[in-house]
Amino acid sequence: MSDAKLILVLGDQLSLQNPALNGARAGVDTVLMAEVGEEASYVRHNRHKIALIFAAMRHFRDQLRDAGHVVHYYEYEQGVTSLAEAVEAELSRANFSGVVVCEPGEYRLREAMAGWQESFGIDVDVLDDRRFLCSIDEFNTWADGYKSLRMEYFYRNMRKRYGVLLEADGEPCGGKWNYDQENRKGWRNQVEVPARRSLRQDEITREVLALVENAFPDNPGDLAQFNYAVTHSQAQAQLDWFCEHGLGNFGTYQDALAEESPWMFHSLVSMYINIGLLEPLAVCQQVEQAWRDGRCELAAAEGFIRQVLGWREYIRGVYWRFMPDYKSKNHFDARRSLPEWFWTGDTDMRCLSQALKQSLDLGYGHHIQRLMVIGNFALLAGLDVEEVCDWYLAVYVDAFEWVELPNTLGMALHADGGMMASKPYAASGKYIQKQGNHCAACHYSPAKMTGDGACPYNSLYWRFIDSHLKALEGNGRMGLVLNNWKKRSEADKAAILQWADKVLEDVAGEGA
Ligand SMILES: Cc1cc2nc3c(=O)[nH]c(=O)nc-3n(C[C@H](O)[C@H](O)[C@H](O)COP(=O)(O)OP(=O)(O)OC[C@H]3O[C@@H](n4cnc5c(N)ncnc54)[C@H](O)[C@@H]3O)c2cc1C
Ligand code: SF4
Repeated sequence: MSDAKLILVLGDQLSLQNPALNGARAGVDTVLMAEVGEEASYVRHNRHKIALIFAAMRHFRDQLRDAGHVVHYYEYEQGVTSLAEAVEAELSRANFSGVVVCEPGEYRLREAMAGWQESFGIDVDVLDDRRFLCSIDEFNTWADGYKSLRMEYFYRNMRKRYGVLLEADGEPCGGKWNYDQENRKGWRNQVEVPARRSLRQDEITREVLALVENAFPDNPGDLAQFNYAVTHSQAQAQLDWFCEHGLGNFGTYQDALAEESPWMFHSLVSMYINIGLLEPLAVCQQVEQAWRDGRCELAAAEGFIRQVLGWREYIRGVYWRFMPDYKSKNHFDARRSLPEWFWTGDTDMRCLSQALKQSLDLGYGHHIQRLMVIGNFALLAGLDVEEVCDWYLAVYVDAFEWVELPNTLGMALHADGGMMASKPYAASGKYIQKQGNHCAACHYSPAKMTGDGACPYNSLYWRFIDSHLKALEGNGRMGLVLNNWKKRSEADKAAILQWADKVLEDVAGEGA
């Protein structure tokens, strides 16, 4: 029997550091890659996401072939429905001594793969994904030491472990671990937002764009605006551009919202890290070096590195620690149907409309749009947790369940009751007004609580507080807000709640 292995590479594992490829023998083993129907359609994925993944896969296929590997590649048009079907087809075509694959990022797929050894009657070796900087076992060992998990302590460990932004004596650079306080400025057009470059599309990318346009006519995403990197070198060029033009202002405006720019000073690299076109540690090291070279403030570099070395790894740890139960959590019993306009962006709420429209059209929304505009509205309006999570999973180009679910269910909707974040990210229109410039031209006024023209976030915020008083009372960080509510007169409260009900009917009602 041949000792050749069948090496399966998934669409979000396009890295030469993929452990399944580490021992690959050119000319002996076969690499299998497949664009399969199930993966492309388990939610109504944004067309940008499908196009990005298919185009990046095809370029990676060619890179492997150029390095001498045998790659069997199934294109979408060949009609393979599942990864299992692709593996089965390969196993019946040739003799292999085993199948090797890097662990998938989603629980659903890991479960499916667990049955492969038995169903195919062949060794299936599922390897740890070492592209992450904290393995699932390491995260669990760290988490076992705490009653409740907090990202900050995890992050400090990771800084120490990888020697990032550390002085020679092991203390944090600048004397502080966290510069978040300095990274919260609101947007009042203080500086110019640099224009993003258009990326060149080659024949492969153009072919994929045409395929996706035809095969997914009902999915969101305006492919005429497709501008994502599809190779390692293009993705690296995007990161270089960010370090040169975005990083300097990244920290200051990290929490800001701007009418005139969908991405402001954000890096737009999550999609590349998530599918293997960039490596997270190298990204952090490049940003640290930019600071050491005097190209940005420490607060900017630290703010960025905390997201990648801290939040990203922490989120993944939370996902694997608490799945599969995590997915069915619904702490506030939120069950209102997602309004139809989440799929069009047609609402008079200007901040929300812009965030929804650009997310649908481009597959991109920055963190504050996802958390404090869209997520905040979903939380306050009590939108159904599962429907909201499915929406996020479908819409964003960087969405994979391991990262989307804890961010949406845990961080934005607090549906896990605080397993991940210490308090709900609930806010009224005042916060959005402070952080951005949408309100000035909005149909609604952030200064009004009730009556025509009142910002819907305001009354919904207090309705949320009132509805969940009991659940929130045990949370020390909510004390001030709860007292503010309790201090209001009964008449005042009744008027706000009555208006909030009308708002829910008008703006959050089905088909509104
Ligand atoms: C409700 C909600 C859903 C989200 N869904 C996703 C998702 O499906 N996929 C995804 O990659 N990120 C998700 N995030 C996290 C974050 O919003 C995106 O990573 C970020 O907006 C991507 O844009 P960027 O590359 O310009 O990020 P930047 O603002 O430039 O941040 C730099 C990098 O830090 C990492 N990062 C920042 N915040 C997080 C975070 N909370 N979790 C994980 N990584 C983080 C990303 O790799 C990102 O590229 C979500 C956040 C929220 C609140
Ligand atoms: S008034 Fe309210 S809905 Fe309008 S932009 Fe401001 S926060 Fe958003």
